[in-house]
Amino acid sequence: MDNKTETLTIGETRSAILAEIGDAVTLVAVSKRQSDDRLAAALAAGQRVFGENRVQEAERHWQARRNIPDLELRLIGPLQTNKADAAVSLFDVIETLDREKLLTALIRAVERTGVKPPDLLIQVNTGDEPQKAGVSISDLPALLERARKSWPGKVRGLMCIPPVDQPPEAHFGLLKKLADQHALPDASMGMSGDYKLAVKSGATHIRLGTALFGPRED
Ligand SMILES: *Cc1c(COP(=O)(O)O)cnc(C)c1O
Repeated sequence: MDNKTETLTIGETRSAILAEIGDAVTLVAVSKRQSDDRLAAALAAGQRVFGENRVQEAERHWQARRNIPDLELRLIGPLQTNKADAAVSLFDVIETLDREKLLTALIRAVERTGVKPPDLLIQVNTGDEPQKAGVSISDLPALLERARKSWPGKVRGLMCIPPVDQPPEAHFGLLKKLADQHALPDASMGMSGDYKLAVKSGATHIRLGTALFGPRED
C-alpha cells in the first residue's frame, strides 16, 4: 500500500491489500468503531471475515447481518467470563482465550446455549507485558493441553499483539515458532502498521482496521 489510501474506496483498498498478502493469508477486517456505511461498503466489496473487540458493539454491528452467507465473525478483544454466553452465540472464532477460568466459562456457555462451539485461538503475551492480556509463554502448554482436552470445538492457533515500543518481527517469529511447535495451523498477527512484516513471518490471519477502513470514530 502507498499513502494514497485515503483517496481509494474501501473496495479498492481491500483489493490492493489482498493482492499484496496473497491467497495464503486471511484478511480480518477489524470493524470496531467504524460506521455502518463502512461496514456495508466492505461487505459490498466481498469482505466476509470481520474482527470485533467488544461483544456488545459486535452485536450492534452484526446481529441483524448474522445470516449473510459465509460471514465469519472473530472476537479479537479481551473477554470477561460474564459475556461468555453472548460471545459463543455471536462469534465463529474467539481469538483471545488466555486463561483457564475463561475456558471453563466458555465450555459452560456452549453447554447452556447449545450453540456450535466457536473455534479458539489462544492469545499469547509474547512481550510479557503486565498490563496486556494473553497467556504467558510458560503457561501456554498447560492452557493449550486443557483446551484440547475439554473444548468441544477446534483449537486452531495462536494470536499476539506485540509491545508497541519494540520491533514486532521477533514477536511474530516467536508466535509462529510456538504455533509450529504445538502443531497449530493458525497464527493471527499483524495489524495496520506491521502486517507486511507479519506476513513475512508466516501469519495466516492479519487484523486490519485503519489500513482498510480509515480512522476509527471516537
Ligand atoms: C483494533 C485492533 C486491531 C486493528 O488495529 P489497526 O491498527 O487499526 O489495524 C487489530 N487487532 C486487535 C487486537 C485490535 O484491538
